[in-house]
Amino acid sequence: MASEFDLIARYFKRPVPAGMLGGGDDCALFAVPEGMQVATSTDLLLESRHFFSDVDPFKLGIKALAVNLSDLAAMGATPIGCLLGIALPRIDEGWVKAFADGFYTLVDRHACPLIGGDTTRSESDIAISVTVFGAVDPAKAMRRSSACIGDDIWVSGYLGAADIACSMMLGQMPMDLALLDRTRLALEQPVPRIDLGKALSAYAHAAIDISDGLAQDLQHILKASRCGAQLHESLLPIAPVLQGIDPARLRQAALAGGDVYELCWTAPIDAREAILKIGQTLQTPVTRIGSIISNQQLIVYDSVGSPLIDLPFGFDHFRT
Ligand code: ADP
Ligand code: MG
Repeated sequence: MASEFDLIARYFKRPVPAGMLGGGDDCALFAVPEGMQVATSTDLLLESRHFFSDVDPFKLGIKALAVNLSDLAAMGATPIGCLLGIALPRIDEGWVKAFADGFYTLVDRHACPLIGGDTTRSESDIAISVTVFGAVDPAKAMRRSSACIGDDIWVSGYLGAADIACSMMLGQMPMDLALLDRTRLALEQPVPRIDLGKALSAYAHAAIDISDGLAQDLQHILKASRCGAQLHESLLPIAPVLQGIDPARLRQAALAGGDVYELCWTAPIDAREAILKIGQTLQTPVTRIGSIISNQQLIVYDSVGSPLIDLPFGFDHFRT
C-alpha cells in the first residue's frame, strides 16, 4: 500500500521552472516580475456537491485547475503556479494517476506549475482544494469595482450548455443522450480564458468569471461599481448545440446557469474594435450583450423590448 509520501512523489511532483522552489520543502518560493502584484484565489471542490462520485478523474483533474485559472483570467493575471490540497478516503492509484494527468494537462497548457500542496485521508468523500497564484499589473487588474456608466457589457464564449448537461445528469430534465454528448464538455472540461483575460486587461474596466451564472455574477460588478446594467436577451450567445430547446428553459440556462467559466467584462465604447480583434486573434467568441447604466438595477429586455419581470437566480450554496 502506497504511503502519503509515495503518492506525492509518484503523482504530484514534477520539475518546476528554474528559479522556483516547488514541492518538497516547507514552503514553495517564487518571484513576481518587477512592478507586478500577486493575484491569488482558491476554490474548493467537494464530492457530491461539485462533482459526481463517478466522474472521470482525468476530467476532474482538468476542472479542478480550470475553475481556479478562470479567476486569474477574470483579473487579467498571468499564471505563476498553484497548490493542491487533496483528501481521499482511500488510495486508488489508478484514480490518483488519472486525476494527476488531467491536472498536469492544464499545468502544462497554461504554464502554471504545481509547487506544493497537502495530501490527507478523509472519512468518506473526496475533497480537492486548489490555490492559484498569478502576476498582474495592479493598474490593469480588472476589478469588479471598475465599471463605468456607458460601458459596453461583453461576454466570452457561449452560454447554457453546462446547465443543460448538469440538469440532465441530476434527473431534473429528461435524459437525451445525444444532447448530453454535445453539452457535457462544457460542464466537465471548461476552458479558462487566460489569454483573453490578459489581452482584455489593456482595454476593459471591470471583469468577472460567470461561474455562478451571468445575471448573478454581473450583479457583483454592478454592486461593487454602484451602477446598473441593461442586457438584451436576443444578444445572449446561446450555445449552438442547444438549438431546439424550449425558449424559457434556454433563458434560464443562459442567465442563471452556473458552472460557466466564461468572462463577462465592461469596456468603453471606443474599445469595441480592439476587443473584436482580440476575439478574432484568439479564436474566442466575444459578444456585446448590453451596457452599464446609472440606474442601479439589472434590466434584461426580451426580444420584443419588454423588461423581464422575474430574473432567474444563479447558484448559491446556502440558498434554501
Ligand atoms: P508539511 O508537513 O510541511 O505540511 P507535507 O508533509 O504535508 O509538508 O508535504 C510535503 C511536501 O509535499 C510539501 O512540500 C508539500 O507542498 C508537498 N505536497 C504535499 N501534498 C501535495 C500535493 N497534493 N500536491 C503537490 N505537492 C504536495
Ligand atoms: Mg502538510
